[in-house]
Amino acid sequence: MKSNFNNSPYTIAGPCSAESWEQVHATVKALVSKGITVIRAGVWKPRTRPNQFEGRGEEALKWLKQIKSEFDVKIATEVATTEHVEMALKYDIDILWLGARTTVNPFIVQEIANSLKGIDLPFLIKNPINPDLSLWLGAIERIAGAGIKKIGAVHRGFSSFQKTKYRNAPMWQIPLELKRHFPEVLLFCDPSHIAGNREMLGELSQKALNLNYDGLMIESHIDPSSALSDAEQQITPDKLAALLDKLKVREATSDDVIFKNHLDELRDKVDHLDREIIEALAARMKAVEEIGNYKKDNNVSIFQLNRWQEITETRPEWAKIFDLDPTYVLDIYKLIHQESIKKQTLIFNKDRVDATSEK
Ligand code: PEP
Ligand code: MN
Repeated sequence: MKSNFNNSPYTIAGPCSAESWEQVHATVKALVSKGITVIRAGVWKPRTRPNQFEGRGEEALKWLKQIKSEFDVKIATEVATTEHVEMALKYDIDILWLGARTTVNPFIVQEIANSLKGIDLPFLIKNPINPDLSLWLGAIERIAGAGIKKIGAVHRGFSSFQKTKYRNAPMWQIPLELKRHFPEVLLFCDPSHIAGNREMLGELSQKALNLNYDGLMIESHIDPSSALSDAEQQITPDKLAALLDKLKVREATSDDVIFKNHLDELRDKVDHLDREIIEALAARMKAVEEIGNYKKDNNVSIFQLNRWQEITETRPEWAKIFDLDPTYVLDIYKLIHQESIKKQTLIFNKDRVDATSEK
């Protein structure tokens, strides 16, 4: 994909919201001077609680149209109703996006999709607030069903019950799964809404590039501390340029023969080790079967709390010896234990079926 800032990834940048003519104009002017050519700006802001700043609506669309012709940039904005789509088109907005609070609602997504029939413009779909891949896939299918060809998915993180250091937990495996389902959909990372602060934007953007994302959407404001929405996470155009400058863009692959050979060797090694892991899992399951039969013969329950506690304590400790993340190993053992309980339950049930059939 074409880069729009020196050696940087495809970047969509701009304020969370278009607040005033002066603010949008000054922000876009500074962004353009840094090489940004695609501007984002919210016009209707979905706010969690009422009586907060809800965007400038049509007035802001007028500013954006003027800015578009003054700076020769493309403008992207969020739409959440069919009226928004109509208004955005009336003011020549170039790219539309669905926000996280809209992607969760198939009825609204379908209405918006219906209103797009016969229209050809790039459309971005943010992930739903909750970590549900199907809702995200479904929204993409509905928009694609309307005949929209250029579709992008924006990863902006997910809310979670657990307190994390992020405003919205990234859960990287979900966008990567999305890419597996729809390889042709461009994947953007929105580190601003994932982080919720300025400090983590650089590392999140680099992580996205390491994972071969196609682009970034980053909130930038001429005076972030005075922003009417998302003040904590916006950065100045200067800071954005410095951030982009530091990023290392990764290649999707390399044609270099030495690289390819070495990668093949390493992958052979991984294949071999995976085979050993599966053999070890099978041998472990055999031992579990013996335990299951032994418990059943001695009329002892399947679940043994003390033993499970011992496993959850020792395995993460062993993981540390080998420089592995203890929580990662604990998660694996939770799955292994679940499967082992399932296996033993089958053994116990088999006994029950036999006993019933004897009657
Ligand atoms: C935004 O982009 O400013 C926004 C409201 O994002 P999200 O829908 O990801 O919360
Ligand atoms: Mn925002």
